[in-house]
Amino acid sequence: AKEAGKNRYAFFSEEIDKKNHDTLDMQTQLKSALDKKEFRLYLQPQVSSQDGKYVITGAEALIRWRTLDGKIYTPDKFIPVSESNGMIIPIGNWIVDEIFRIDKLLKEQDIDIKLSINVSSKQLEDNSLLYKIKDMYQNNALQRINLVIEITESILLQDIDKAIEVLNEIKSMGIGISLDDFGTGFSSLSYLTRLPLDYIKIDKSFIDDFAKPNTTNLTANIIAIAKTLNLKTVAEGVETLEQVNKLIEEKCDQLQGYYFNRPLDIPDFIEYANSMKQ
Ligand code: C2E
Ligand code: CA
Ligand code: CA
Ligand code: CA
Repeated sequence: AKEAGKNRYAFFSEEIDKKNHDTLDMQTQLKSALDKKEFRLYLQPQVSSQDGKYVITGAEALIRWRTLDGKIYTPDKFIPVSESNGMIIPIGNWIVDEIFRIDKLLKEQDIDIKLSINVSSKQLEDNSLLYKIKDMYQNNALQRINLVIEITESILLQDIDKAIEVLNEIKSMGIGISLDDFGTGFSSLSYLTRLPLDYIKIDKSFIDDFAKPNTTNLTANIIAIAKTLNLKTVAEGVETLEQVNKLIEEKCDQLQGYYFNRPLDIPDFIEYANSMKQ
């Protein structure tokens, strides 16, 4: 039995070595991807209904990794691992640089909208995001960027008072704060009042069943709670006209999803935004 235990240990340690090796490998690959400028931010439109017309009021930036041979990796393939190997910090800083650059490009095309970026709790924890954003605001003082950060309820797993402090400081620079994937995590309603939020993003899982008949659905209640707390609502994963109509009826402020468009590269986004102006 002892032998077997030893073997098993050897087996596990080999596994762990392999895991460490893979992680290290991924770290090297992500570093090289940053150097080679293989990351891209795509923009997915956020739409409001104004006087019976759809208007693009914002866009969410979603990262893609496009290798030189043309393969495109979605964030689930590299964001979680970048959070565990620390690469989320330099990648996150690049995202801030890039969103300022994109904002300039859009304004040159007369597209003046709110831009949201996704932010990992790790970037808030070590203040790197705060410093990066401060730096960018100082260096681009004349660029009136309308920026929103999307955070998830996982920030509640860290020191909550520290998180609130950092968020307050970010907010004091005029940046909006949006709680992503609302309803899927562990937030209690009391946290909602403590975090300095501006928006709640209703998770796609609620939107999926929203327009179906005879189902209990919390979407309308979430919108009502948000209104009580003076927060704006964004619905994510909107795919059908039925969902659009019901969300507008319930006075959801902004809609995002494949019904309008997928995340688009910058030239395609500009084309779409200009076509919506007509
Ligand atoms: P998320 O923030 O919840 O982003 C929404 C995801 O839903 C995106 O997937 C988007 O492409 C997809 N989506 C949008 N509309 C629809 C729809 O109508 N139907 C369906 N089925 N899907 C829709 P994506 O781009 O693969 O991103 C996945 C996740 O990766 C994001 O979830 C976010 O948590 C993370 N992520 C993406 N970009 C970044 C980033 O720049 N930084 C960080 N830290 N995380 C990111
Ligand atoms: Ca998001
Ligand atoms: Ca989301
Ligand atoms: Ca989601």
